[in-house]
Amino acid sequence: MILPIYTYGDEILKKQCYDVDLNNKDEINILVNNMFETLKSADGVGLAAPQIGKSLNLFIIDISSEYDFFSFKEVFINPKILDKSQEKESNIEGCLSVPDIKEKIDRHSWIKLEYYDSNFVKQIKEFKGLQSVVIQHEFDHLYGVLFISR
Ligand code: ZN
Repeated sequence: MILPIYTYGDEILKKQCYDVDLNNKDEINILVNNMFETLKSADGVGLAAPQIGKSLNLFIIDISSEYDFFSFKEVFINPKILDKSQEKESNIEGCLSVPDIKEKIDRHSWIKLEYYDSNFVKQIKEFKGLQSVVIQHEFDHLYGVLFISR
């Protein structure tokens, strides 16, 4: 099911999110499937739960590419940043909740994250490049931060 995406000005985008209750697996699976469908139809690379009206610590990323090497699809449940690089890189970013605006934003070059994946298995991984940029953008949404305020 394609869900409506909340846009700039809506209060839910400014709220801090709550941890997902990992016991509600069926509910989370449905939500995650709907989010992937919504993300695809909106032609984006990442979507955080507040963008579809849920104050939950959950975001998804789907960087599809015709080159498998670059493709990346992952669910991040209750993510925490464990470590990050000192050095930063700037990239042009956009957001499905802030249509028509693109801005150059500084982000850490790499980050180390702890999270639960789509199988509710705890992961600790490092991400760099485009993956790191998109993760930091989506992570901000969980704290009510939009890229235009950075
Ligand atoms: Zn966004």
